[in-house]
Amino acid sequence: MPDASNGPVSRQLDVAIVGGGLAGLYAIHRLRGMGLRVRAYEAGSGIGGTWFWNRYPGARCDVESLEYSYGFDDALQQDWKWPERYGTQPEILKYINHVADRFDLRRDVQLETRIVSALFDGEANEWTLATDGGETARARYVVMAAGNLSTPRVPDFPGLKSFTGKWYHSGLWPHGGVDFSGLRVGVIGTGSSGVQMIPIIARQAKHLTVFQRTANFSLPARNAPMEPERERRHKAEYPERRRAAADTPFAIGGHAKPTHSALDVTDEERNAAYEAKWQEGGSISYLYAYTDLLVNKASNDTASEFVRNKIRGIVEDPRTAELLAPKDHPIGTKRLCLDTGYYETYNRDNVSLVDVRSDRIAELTETGLRTAGGQTFDLDAIVFATGFDAMTGALREIDIRTSDGADLRAHWEGGPLTYLGLMVAGFPNMFVVTGPGSPGVKTQMIASIEQHVDWIADCLGHMRERGLDRIEPSAEAETAWVQHVNDIAHATLYPLANSWYMGANIPGKPRVFMPYVGGYDRYKRHCDAVAAKGYEGFVFGRAKVPVASR
Ligand code: NAP
Repeated sequence: MPDASNGPVSRQLDVAIVGGGLAGLYAIHRLRGMGLRVRAYEAGSGIGGTWFWNRYPGARCDVESLEYSYGFDDALQQDWKWPERYGTQPEILKYINHVADRFDLRRDVQLETRIVSALFDGEANEWTLATDGGETARARYVVMAAGNLSTPRVPDFPGLKSFTGKWYHSGLWPHGGVDFSGLRVGVIGTGSSGVQMIPIIARQAKHLTVFQRTANFSLPARNAPMEPERERRHKAEYPERRRAAADTPFAIGGHAKPTHSALDVTDEERNAAYEAKWQEGGSISYLYAYTDLLVNKASNDTASEFVRNKIRGIVEDPRTAELLAPKDHPIGTKRLCLDTGYYETYNRDNVSLVDVRSDRIAELTETGLRTAGGQTFDLDAIVFATGFDAMTGALREIDIRTSDGADLRAHWEGGPLTYLGLMVAGFPNMFVVTGPGSPGVKTQMIASIEQHVDWIADCLGHMRERGLDRIEPSAEAETAWVQHVNDIAHATLYPLANSWYMGANIPGKPRVFMPYVGGYDRYKRHCDAVAAKGYEGFVFGRAKVPVASR
């Protein structure tokens, strides 16, 4: 580990924030408002996190824009005008930049700076962070706002270096865009990113070959220009709508709470309900049609089969349709995709689908790609829509240790351990925003970000009032929470899928279910109760030696 304590101290902070995306920016705003000296370190050359990096064609949020936005400032949510039902990547990035300017956040963001190590001094109760530029910063607290899907992963196919065409990863897209006109393009991966980009690349490319390992369920987004009346109504009720959203498992409002099992109704009724949801567009609405779609396999089968039949109805070639119809996991147990014309794309003459489950990709070659079964494909460009080292990747890339000998990589060797997804036992004063053990990735992310950051800010206020400067969860609280997260997951259908929620997309990564799937509403109530009981499960302290003079 680089010795973080020897470099020149460039900063003395109260709170160092790792990441300048939606979470890091809100943390600056909230914590600075408490009079704390804060600074966010961001690896990108601009703010925005996910929305800065993922510029692939068709990148768009799958939560409606009136919901997927900050709720902390009513004037902001009244003023901002979303042009479409679902925000595009450029539009969301524009919004984030507007927020940064509006609340004067940029002055506390240091761009093009990656935190490479963080060392906690247990005598002074202080973190020292080292950057890739050789600077160090000392801070009483660290807020890890480094993202859950921020460590792009290109599978280590042999021969990548020998490929003479161009290749791209969805999460590291060139800022100038890519023109695929006239090219033979291969897209590897059919998760949310692949499903969004494939229809658009198909319209440009001479030929598009999609390499699919696992078919994913996708529903129509039914994106459209924002209806003025819908916007007006929503804005008139914004605070109530935000409160109502906070009372749902996904932190997304506007959908009637399901009241009965999918098995309580007739086939006709059920299919009519699914058809209405299919026509309405959106993924949450579909999964929220009945109470038990994510906990009862027989119920889920009805929802899965409905979508499989839709795919069979759209895709003209029956063999391609069967390949696209997912059969290895219940709908919703992998992140449900939202698309615009995805299945229709396979009816184009210039698009072909290759099953790399039955015949895996063996290597990249100078001219394209070869499968283990000997099929070869000549390609001018390859797009890796192959996902991320999700939830733990960003923190595992930082060398995080304490003077007591704790090492986060070692602590998480068997899978991530946290208490409430907010802190890690043995790593005092380090908060995590929407990390493993939190419901973040299963919710409207910005709502979870605000909830986490508000909870952290309130906790720091509690400590300040009492002259405390050290907090960490007890090992028992952490163990109990990890068990609780697992118990809840295993009472659902989620573990039936090989998803990034399980670490299954990364060879060698421990298979542990990482997000809390008990629902945002339940989680928030639990966090509030923990705070109300004097931060039950946390241990507080004071520095043994005073911090270096400030
Ligand atoms: P992903 O869901 O992890 O999908 C990666 C795809 O690459 C999968 O189809 C995977 O197949 C395939 N793949 C990985 N390694 C492979 C290999 N060696 N050979 C063949 N195929 C391989 O990644 P993503 O699509 O980037 O999405 C990640 C998450 O980001 C989403 O689940 C979502 O939460 C978020 N996201 C959201 C939006 C949105 O809001 N609309 C858009 C994009 C992303 P397997 O399934 O077999 O592993």
